[in-house]
Amino acid sequence: MTKAKRTIVVTGGSRGIGRAISLEFADSDICVYFNYLSNKAEADKTITLIKKAGGCGYAFKADISVFDEVKTFFDKIFQHTEKIDILVNNAGISKNGLIPLLKESDWDKTINTNLKGIFLCTKIAAKKMIRQKYGRIINISSVVGFTGSAGQAGYSASKAGIIAFTKSAAQELASRNITVNAVAPGFINTDMTRALTEKVKKKIVAKIPLEKIGEDRNVADAVKFLSSEQASYITGQVIHVNGGMYM
Ligand code: NAP
Repeated sequence: MTKAKRTIVVTGGSRGIGRAISLEFADSDICVYFNYLSNKAEADKTITLIKKAGGCGYAFKADISVFDEVKTFFDKIFQHTEKIDILVNNAGISKNGLIPLLKESDWDKTINTNLKGIFLCTKIAAKKMIRQKYGRIINISSVVGFTGSAGQAGYSASKAGIIAFTKSAAQELASRNITVNAVAPGFINTDMTRALTEKVKKKIVAKIPLEKIGEDRNVADAVKFLSSEQASYITGQVIHVNGGMYM
């Protein structure tokens, strides 16, 4: 069993926003457990960075869209620790295409990863949190879950679904001292957005009042706040981290 006083589980901690969240909690007081889909080298890098910052971290390979893999992921965590204080449902993918051209398999993959994955991880973590009578669950949505986005129907639908899931879970779990909130990032500098051309990026920045792309740590800061005691009376809410892109 780990000696850390608290435990956080982050999905998709190998890269981008999930890595920034994992590093935000690199502290001797808390142990970070995260999963990744396939990128072991990047997962190892996150662990190295957590340890360098004085924290405790473990990485496990698990596809969040597959129940058996999610169960095995949590079983491994429960071999180390008896509780989960914080769950951050961060892992997500974006498979884009205009609706007439969007493949059914890409739609399914997007919904199964972004939406079903959050249900599966919450299903297991919430059971533990209910017994503890304490928990913080934070789901990563997106600005396009509010605005929609041409060419991103599946992705946007999954991110809008996360908001309804968050509010439902918040209502179910409030009596057990478990809060459930969402963070909706705008345009953040990660692998997911780096692939866009400079022309497209310029167009997006032109729509952002703060006139710049966000950084992964901006999202991690909002997650840290929602997991803190200062946020103990906040549940079923969304924090928009988007430079004013959507108000
Ligand atoms: P990213 O850099 O592409 O990283 C995605 C992470 O999710 C990786 O750790 C990846 O693991 C993991 N992952 C993907 N599919 C998985 C699966 N089926 N099972 C387990 N892990 C899986 O993405 P990001 O930009 O950091 O985005 C993180 C979250 O923020 C996503 O939910 C995304 O939709 C949301 N978001 C991002 C932006 C943005 O501008 N970047 C804006 C709004 C919302 P591997 O490394 O093994 O592939």
